[in-house]
Amino acid sequence: MANQTLDSQQTVVESDVLTCAVHPNIETSLRCNKCGRLMCNRCAVRTPVGYRCRECVRGQRKAFFNAQPADPIIQGAVSLPLAAIAAGLMGLVPGFGFFGLLIAFWAGSAAGALIADIAYRLVSKRRGEYSWLIVAACIAIGGTVGTMITGFSLTGVLFTAMAVSTAIGRLRLGR
Ligand SMILES: [Zn+2]
Ligand SMILES: [Zn+2]
Repeated sequence: MANQTLDSQQTVVESDVLTCAVHPNIETSLRCNKCGRLMCNRCAVRTPVGYRCRECVRGQRKAFFNAQPADPIIQGAVSLPLAAIAAGLMGLVPGFGFFGLLIAFWAGSAAGALIADIAYRLVSKRRGEYSWLIVAACIAIGGTVGTMITGFSLTGVLFTAMAVSTAIGRLRLGR
Protein backbone atom coordinates (compact mmCIF):
# COMPACT_ATOMS: atom_id res chain seq x y z
CA MET A 1 0.00 0.00 0.00
CA ALA A 2 2.76 2.41 1.02
CA ASN A 3 4.74 1.36 -2.02
CA GLN A 4 1.87 2.07 -4.37
CA THR A 5 1.46 5.61 -3.00
CA LEU A 6 5.12 6.30 -3.55
CA ASP A 7 4.88 5.03 -7.12
CA SER A 8 1.96 7.22 -8.05
CA GLN A 9 3.63 10.21 -6.41
CA GLN A 10 6.72 9.65 -8.52
CA THR A 11 4.63 9.48 -11.67
CA VAL A 12 3.00 12.80 -10.81
CA VAL A 13 6.38 14.43 -10.17
CA GLU A 14 7.77 13.10 -13.44
CA SER A 15 4.92 14.27 -15.64
CA ASP A 16 5.01 17.66 -13.92
CA VAL A 17 8.42 18.47 -15.35
CA LEU A 18 7.98 18.53 -19.11
CA THR A 19 11.02 19.23 -21.22
CA CYS A 20 11.66 19.91 -24.88
CA ALA A 21 12.16 16.80 -27.02
CA VAL A 22 15.27 18.34 -28.58
CA HIS A 23 16.61 20.22 -25.56
CA PRO A 24 16.16 17.92 -22.51
CA ASN A 25 17.17 20.63 -20.03
CA ILE A 26 14.65 23.23 -21.17
CA GLU A 27 11.28 23.02 -19.44
CA THR A 28 8.23 23.53 -21.60
CA SER A 29 4.56 22.64 -21.81
CA LEU A 30 4.15 23.62 -25.46
CA ARG A 31 3.34 20.81 -27.85
CA CYS A 32 3.49 20.58 -31.62
CA ASN A 33 -0.11 20.53 -32.82
CA LYS A 34 0.72 18.01 -35.55
CA CYS A 35 2.90 15.33 -33.95
CA GLY A 36 2.31 16.28 -30.31
CA ARG A 37 5.93 16.34 -29.23
CA LEU A 38 7.06 18.76 -26.56
CA MET A 39 9.08 21.72 -27.77
CA CYS A 40 10.63 24.84 -26.29
CA ASN A 41 10.30 28.38 -27.64
CA ARG A 42 13.42 27.91 -29.72
CA CYS A 43 12.04 24.80 -31.43
CA ALA A 44 8.50 26.04 -31.95
CA VAL A 45 7.62 27.55 -35.31
CA ARG A 46 4.51 29.69 -35.58
CA THR A 47 2.41 28.66 -38.57
CA PRO A 48 -1.05 29.79 -39.71
CA VAL A 49 -2.47 26.64 -38.12
CA GLY A 50 -0.65 26.98 -34.79
CA TYR A 51 2.71 26.14 -33.25
CA ARG A 52 4.57 23.28 -34.83
CA CYS A 53 7.95 21.64 -34.40
CA ARG A 54 10.69 22.22 -36.96
CA GLU A 55 10.44 18.70 -38.38
CA CYS A 56 6.73 19.04 -39.13
CA VAL A 57 7.21 22.46 -40.74
CA ARG A 58 10.01 21.09 -42.90
CA GLY A 59 7.78 18.19 -43.97
CA GLN A 60 5.04 20.64 -44.91
CA ARG A 61 7.36 22.71 -47.07
CA LYS A 62 8.59 19.59 -48.84
CA ALA A 63 5.05 18.49 -49.57
CA PHE A 64 4.13 21.93 -50.91
CA PHE A 65 7.14 22.36 -53.18
CA ASN A 66 6.97 19.22 -55.27
CA ALA A 67 9.14 20.30 -58.23
CA GLN A 68 11.47 17.83 -59.95
CA PRO A 69 15.16 18.82 -60.24
CA ALA A 70 14.82 19.42 -64.01
CA ASP A 71 11.73 21.63 -63.70
CA PRO A 72 13.51 25.00 -63.32
CA ILE A 73 15.75 24.18 -66.31
CA ILE A 74 12.72 23.39 -68.49
CA GLN A 75 10.92 26.52 -67.30
CA GLY A 76 13.93 28.73 -67.94
CA ALA A 77 14.64 27.17 -71.34
CA VAL A 78 11.12 28.01 -72.47
CA SER A 79 10.66 31.40 -70.79
CA LEU A 80 13.81 32.95 -72.23
CA PRO A 81 13.10 32.48 -75.98
CA LEU A 82 9.40 33.25 -75.50
CA ALA A 83 10.26 36.54 -73.80
CA ALA A 84 12.83 37.34 -76.51
CA ILE A 85 10.28 36.73 -79.28
CA ALA A 86 7.58 38.71 -77.48
CA ALA A 87 9.92 41.66 -76.83
CA GLY A 88 11.14 41.47 -80.43
CA LEU A 89 7.57 41.64 -81.71
CA MET A 90 6.93 44.55 -79.38
CA GLY A 91 9.93 46.33 -80.91
CA LEU A 92 8.35 45.96 -84.36
CA VAL A 93 5.31 47.92 -83.23
CA PRO A 94 6.05 51.51 -84.22
CA GLY A 95 6.31 53.88 -81.29
CA PHE A 96 3.31 56.11 -80.85
CA GLY A 97 4.66 58.10 -77.94
CA PHE A 98 2.39 57.83 -74.95
CA PHE A 99 0.09 55.46 -76.78
CA GLY A 100 3.05 53.16 -77.49
CA LEU A 101 3.92 53.04 -73.79
CA LEU A 102 0.30 52.19 -73.02
CA ILE A 103 0.44 49.27 -75.47
CA ALA A 104 3.78 48.13 -73.98
CA PHE A 105 2.29 48.26 -70.48
CA TRP A 106 -0.70 46.15 -71.47
CA ALA A 107 1.15 43.75 -73.79
CA GLY A 108 3.95 43.30 -71.23
CA SER A 109 1.63 42.13 -68.47
CA ALA A 110 -0.26 39.90 -70.91
CA ALA A 111 3.00 38.32 -72.13
CA GLY A 112 4.26 37.86 -68.56
CA ALA A 113 1.03 36.15 -67.53
CA LEU A 114 1.10 33.92 -70.60
CA ILE A 115 4.74 32.89 -70.13
CA ALA A 116 4.19 32.20 -66.42
CA ASP A 117 1.18 30.08 -67.29
CA ILE A 118 3.08 28.11 -69.93
CA ALA A 119 6.01 27.59 -67.53
CA TYR A 120 3.62 26.36 -64.84
CA ARG A 121 1.72 23.95 -67.10
CA LEU A 122 4.90 22.68 -68.71
CA VAL A 123 6.04 21.04 -65.46
CA SER A 124 2.60 19.48 -64.82
CA LYS A 125 1.74 22.31 -62.41
CA ARG A 126 4.42 21.26 -59.96
CA ARG A 127 5.48 24.00 -57.57
CA GLY A 128 9.13 24.91 -57.19
CA GLU A 129 10.41 27.10 -54.38
CA TYR A 130 12.47 29.23 -56.79
CA SER A 131 10.63 28.74 -60.09
CA TRP A 132 9.31 32.33 -59.91
CA LEU A 133 12.88 33.60 -59.66
CA ILE A 134 14.19 31.51 -62.55
CA VAL A 135 11.29 32.38 -64.84
CA ALA A 136 11.55 36.08 -63.91
CA ALA A 137 15.31 36.12 -64.60
CA CYS A 138 14.85 34.37 -67.96
CA ILE A 139 12.09 36.78 -69.01
CA ALA A 140 14.36 39.69 -68.03
CA ILE A 141 17.26 38.30 -70.09
CA GLY A 142 15.07 37.22 -73.03
CA GLY A 143 13.17 40.51 -73.00
CA THR A 144 16.39 42.52 -72.99
CA VAL A 145 17.86 40.49 -75.86
CA GLY A 146 14.63 40.83 -77.87
CA THR A 147 14.54 44.56 -77.26
CA MET A 148 18.19 44.95 -78.32
CA ILE A 149 17.68 42.99 -81.55
CA THR A 150 14.91 45.28 -82.78
CA GLY A 151 16.63 48.38 -81.44
CA PHE A 152 16.61 49.76 -77.91
CA SER A 153 13.39 51.51 -77.02
CA LEU A 154 11.59 52.72 -73.95
CA THR A 155 8.57 50.63 -74.90
CA GLY A 156 10.77 47.50 -74.96
CA VAL A 157 12.08 48.25 -71.46
CA LEU A 158 8.57 48.89 -70.13
CA PHE A 159 7.30 45.75 -71.86
CA THR A 160 10.02 43.59 -70.26
CA ALA A 161 9.57 45.14 -66.82
CA MET A 162 5.82 44.52 -66.93
CA ALA A 163 6.32 40.94 -68.13
CA VAL A 164 8.78 40.22 -65.28
CA SER A 165 6.61 41.67 -62.53
CA THR A 166 3.44 39.97 -63.80
CA ALA A 167 5.18 36.60 -64.04
CA ILE A 168 6.48 36.97 -60.47
CA GLY A 169 2.98 37.82 -59.28
CA ARG A 170 1.53 34.79 -61.02
CA LEU A 171 4.12 32.25 -59.94
CA ARG A 172 4.94 33.49 -56.48
CA LEU A 173 1.62 34.69 -55.11
CA GLY A 174 -0.98 33.39 -57.54
CA ARG A 175 -1.06 29.66 -56.99
ZN1 LIG B 1 5.76 18.09 -34.96
ZN1 LIG C 1 13.98 22.87 -27.94
